[in-house]
Amino acid sequence: MTFASVAANTHYVPQDLPTHIQHYINGEFVDSVGGMTFDVLDPVSNTNYATAAAGQKEDIDLAVAAAREAFVNGPWPKMKPRERARILNRIADAVEAQEERLAELETFDTGLPITQAKGQALRAAENFRFFADLIVAQFDDAMKVPGSQINYVNRKPIGVAGLITPWNTPFMLESWKLAPALATGNTVVLKPAEFTPLSASLWATIFKDAGLPDGVFNLVNGLGEEAGDALVKHPDVPLISFTGETTTGQTIFRNAATNLKGLSMELGGKSPCVVFADADLDAAIDSALFGVFSLNGERCTAGSRILVERAIYDEFCEKYAARARNIVVGDPHDPKTQVGALVHPEHFAKVASYVEIGKTEGRLLAGGGRPEHLPEGNYIAPTVFADVAPDARIFQEEIFGPVVAITPFENDDEALALANNTKYGLAAYIWTQNLTRAHNFSQNVEAGMVWLNSHNVRDLRTPFGGVKASGLGHEGGYRSIDFYTDQQAVHITLGTVHTPKFGA
Ligand code: NAD
Repeated sequence: MTFASVAANTHYVPQDLPTHIQHYINGEFVDSVGGMTFDVLDPVSNTNYATAAAGQKEDIDLAVAAAREAFVNGPWPKMKPRERARILNRIADAVEAQEERLAELETFDTGLPITQAKGQALRAAENFRFFADLIVAQFDDAMKVPGSQINYVNRKPIGVAGLITPWNTPFMLESWKLAPALATGNTVVLKPAEFTPLSASLWATIFKDAGLPDGVFNLVNGLGEEAGDALVKHPDVPLISFTGETTTGQTIFRNAATNLKGLSMELGGKSPCVVFADADLDAAIDSALFGVFSLNGERCTAGSRILVERAIYDEFCEKYAARARNIVVGDPHDPKTQVGALVHPEHFAKVASYVEIGKTEGRLLAGGGRPEHLPEGNYIAPTVFADVAPDARIFQEEIFGPVVAITPFENDDEALALANNTKYGLAAYIWTQNLTRAHNFSQNVEAGMVWLNSHNVRDLRTPFGGVKASGLGHEGGYRSIDFYTDQQAVHITLGTVHTPKFGA
């Protein structure tokens, strides 16, 4: 990377910001073979602060060749789990030690409030520690079969894992894939999102310092249709872990079919937050605000459809909207900020257009566009629409910004029907004091994850993933170990072998 100090203009600019972001292949920072670059914007001033190398097929070919060589002839896949775990723990130490720097770069690149970016950096470290512990604690299952056999399952790393990630909380989401892929002995090529390439390069230095052999981690920046597409289609990449939009996931699914790759897909969402009249109202309001306005609403599990029982509907809407109007929107580097700038002008335009659509589809209770005190940058005031019908676009479509739709329901059956009335099925949040109702609802709601009287917290041992258009497969805990390993069954016969004597 090339570093230079950039003078602050309208807002805080971190020291020593790179002016050019490169790939990292076989232990070296390099540019694209053809010299292509793309511009990287900061979401507060919307000016180009850097260029990034734009990877093409030939750059992906080099990265995959390096990863393949490190897999076939390098030490990493053959290391004992304990040896790999030692390096993973050093990586976690380094991420924790650099928490402040990571957070300020992530905030600068994404527009995420600084206090929330710090939490994401620590979570990235936790992911590495978690998988370090997991591979030491468990690996091969053995079973004695009655009679004369012992069978065991030999878990083997698969090869070069292609990791394709989105721009929301990029560093943390990259750690979700990197930690289990590396822990299990694979080598990787990471293609981060083009809107936010800044923090991914930090992995390269952290990994090198922690002792990860060259070629095990490779990074190619670039556009999805170029670098991402080449990675998905590469014959030497047997598995792809993808997080991003549902439509992109569908394209990747089709392109990965030619070589029949292993696929993990974490896709979009339009998750319901269902509040029954017997809920602890204050706690439900806290959670329903956090659920859609934290991380600027750029959160796959955002509870962006709030369904409220009619008996408390008016009170809920009034209190919720009053709190939404109090949310502090501003420069993401200011520790008081709760909602920062959206990641990119293109995304800002998309979210702003949904706000306009919402004005024709619901009753505007808060927000409704750019806050008056922020004439520049990608800022949208927390926006609340009530009385939204289930066929409204703002009820059905993922907005991925600080915009929420509230809809009333009369009874449990209607609540469930509304909750399931979407193509997505990522998360559901349920607020009630009635355990039987909560249990029945979670059995029937079409969602990969359910939070009862709780906001978005997850123990790393539990699976993360969606159903319907929200994804395929799960990440997290043992599910990640399953995804990143082949499970070869080995059958050993004890004593004399009694094989039927064909042809004797
Ligand atoms: P996106 O689909 O536009 O891009 C994601 C990544 O895919 C980027 O790196 C992009 O360059 C790459 N890509 C694009 N086209 C490609 C192609 N044809 N082949 C290969 N790669 C390609 O998504 P985004 O806008 O970056 O992220 C936001 C989306 O991600 C939202 O829908 C959100 O819900 C989803 N998301 C889901 C989860 C989850 O765990 N379910 C988590 C975070 C984000």
